[in-house]
Amino acid sequence: MSTHPVSYLPYPVIFFGGTAALVAGVSQGLPYWHVGPPILLLAALLVLALERVFPHAEVWRRDHDGDTLTDVFHVTGNLALSHVSLLLYTLAMELTGGALSWWPRDWPFWAQFLVGTVLLDLGLYGIHRASHHVPALWRLHAIHHSPRRVYWLNGQRRHLLHEALEGAPGLLVMGLLGAPPTVVACALAAVTLHLMFQHGNIAYRAGVLRHVFAVAELHRWHHQRLYADVQGNYGAILSVWDRLFGTALPQKGEAPLDVGMDDEPTLPTDYLGQLAWPFRGRRGARGGIGASPSGQDA
Ligand SMILES: [Zn+2]
Repeated sequence: MSTHPVSYLPYPVIFFGGTAALVAGVSQGLPYWHVGPPILLLAALLVLALERVFPHAEVWRRDHDGDTLTDVFHVTGNLALSHVSLLLYTLAMELTGGALSWWPRDWPFWAQFLVGTVLLDLGLYGIHRASHHVPALWRLHAIHHSPRRVYWLNGQRRHLLHEALEGAPGLLVMGLLGAPPTVVACALAAVTLHLMFQHGNIAYRAGVLRHVFAVAELHRWHHQRLYADVQGNYGAILSVWDRLFGTALPQKGEAPLDVGMDDEPTLPTDYLGQLAWPFRGRRGARGGIGASPSGQDA
């Protein structure tokens, strides 16, 4: 693990630089669709390049059991769902005709963006935490814990139904408050960008930013192999939720490179198999210090 000063640059430059450019562009009146996708694409290319030249773990650079193709399907499906959600949100706002008007629309756009992103992120934290305790939700979420490496595409390795459930609280609250679709779009883009870094196999360091943001050096502990060891570090963008609600995982040094989910050995490796797995009748495995929720529920 490098601690060269350069290793402190990628995260703030790409994540904060990317979100700042996005917010600035939309604030200037540019349509989100003209700014958001190009910035996300550029960020993805930079993250991909950094994984090639500046990896955290060499062993995570290579494909594991065809996981790259599986994750490409997850990325495609989840981003499509995210954009459909955004279109439906926009339609709902137009149909209500501004009847819902508690949102602080007179605030600067960047401030609205921060409020929207915090609301969305709190919802993600809540559903993620619940998914480790409610058996039906764990079945959907366990897929995220299945890969044998942690790299940038893992952020999108989520069941389509779980993707919808995770975003629902934040979108519902913003919808009831009357948040403009552009705020929602930018908040969703910020989550997408952060997930690349949270899972990125990049030897970057976050320094003091890790006390506020759920960066890779924290989230890698959430991918340990035993269910009992991953009950914490639930934050997507902010790590403050884990500190505030007492769910920060104990950690010393670097997280183990041997990752996966030993307590769910029947998880398929292919995309369609993973979509079907939560609904198949099967007996969940038990193991570790405690049983997994699916094991308890089986
Ligand atoms: Zn989890």
